[in-house]
Amino acid sequence: MGKYEIVIGMELHTQLKTKTKLFCGCSTEFGAAPNSQTCPVCLGLPGVLPVMNKKAFELSLKAAVALNCKIDLETTWDRKNYYYPDQPKNFQISQNYHCLGVDGFVEIEVDGAIKRIGIDNIHLEEDAGKLMHPEGSNVDFSKVDLNRTGQPLAEIVTKPDMRSIEDAKAYMETMRLFLLHLDLSDCKMQEGSLRFEPSVSLRPFGQEKYGNRVEVKNVNSVKFVVLALEYEIARQTQILDSGGTVAQETVLYDEFRNETRPMRRKEESHDYRYFPEPDLVPATVTEDQIIEVRSAMPELPLAKKHRFIEQYELPAYDAEVLADDPGIAAWFESCAKLHSDAKAVSNLIMNDVMKELNSRKISIEEFPVGVEAAADLLRRVEAGEVSKNKGKEVFAEMAASGKNPGDIIEQKGMRQIGDSDAVRKMVEDAIAQNPQAAEQYKSGKGKAKGALVGSVMKVSKGKADPQLVNQLIDEIVLG
Ligand SMILES: [Zn+2]
Repeated sequence: MGKYEIVIGMELHTQLKTKTKLFCGCSTEFGAAPNSQTCPVCLGLPGVLPVMNKKAFELSLKAAVALNCKIDLETTWDRKNYYYPDQPKNFQISQNYHCLGVDGFVEIEVDGAIKRIGIDNIHLEEDAGKLMHPEGSNVDFSKVDLNRTGQPLAEIVTKPDMRSIEDAKAYMETMRLFLLHLDLSDCKMQEGSLRFEPSVSLRPFGQEKYGNRVEVKNVNSVKFVVLALEYEIARQTQILDSGGTVAQETVLYDEFRNETRPMRRKEESHDYRYFPEPDLVPATVTEDQIIEVRSAMPELPLAKKHRFIEQYELPAYDAEVLADDPGIAAWFESCAKLHSDAKAVSNLIMNDVMKELNSRKISIEEFPVGVEAAADLLRRVEAGEVSKNKGKEVFAEMAASGKNPGDIIEQKGMRQIGDSDAVRKMVEDAIAQNPQAAEQYKSGKGKAKGALVGSVMKVSKGKADPQLVNQLIDEIVLG
């Protein structure tokens, strides 16, 4: 541990899953030709009036309730003024004086311990356009794509409650899953629909007053947030160690050089001159609406993970993998209702189902094997009808052909030989053919048993019940 305590806060912007923009009817679809999804409202032409997207408001309300925020029943809109080519009307409609939700929290898990991260506020705002700066020595222009202008963003701002890079990583992953589980955003970081901007300061352990905070902008992935934080922590440590003072500023992260550098003064606008948006009425929420949203809230991944550990006695690792994907979690629970060995269900999902999903690049909702057929197979394996290994083959065949496990086992002659007379005969033959191995096993060489088991499995084409084979070898050889 270093000399200084690390203090991290995080701003998150996520594009909400709506078909149209926040204040006009333009499509939010990603990947269209530049500037094809624009209209007089999002281009900011004179005389136009914005109309709030109800769906975007409902989604952000859902997030605010799930983040345990106090909800402002009358949310107002403000203009954040700035002059920049990515926003033709020279202001962004946001919420400054009355944010939708304040003073909430979210729970993260780090090294098995639950930690609460305070949410300062969540508010709704419109996105700006995307500037592109073509490379080349003769290039003296930039391009702008205004398709993104006016897309609905929820901004979630934490309190400075994270104390390590591990906390920050856990927070980012928790929020990604949170947004996915609540169906608020598609969270495609490569398309910009989820962005994190950390701020970090250091203070000597035991000191109450926070150190000067540095905000990091222009970090495009979780990996770069981590690298930028590592860089900033090292840089600030060096300044403090040499008796200097860290400047409170905003820096840009340069992913090519892996360093941060201060924003130029003109890029940094401390004074956005917020004032109330005169063209929009306040958005109101009723207590009944909040109760309704709360009662329809799905279980969040962390709570689900701990319920799985408790209810199904799963190892923490299994519970986390299953709980992270809402579809897989639901598949697991329906299958575990039909087959009570939950660990066997979990193994099937983690080893076999996920392998199929990954290789076919499909979601569990598109997977052809239903929970009834899967439970049927697990029952047959448990009853010893097929070995565990053969069970894997049967499952792969079920996924490929959609046939039920009973038919596959029959057609492929995979039924395990559990008839003890037949297996005893094979074991006796194996011992007769390998007297040396039997002798060695008898004299205490455990390894020699493998040759006998192998011989029986070969003769039975892998269908003899291995447990029965082992038991009979012991009985006959050891007496
Ligand atoms: Zn528009």
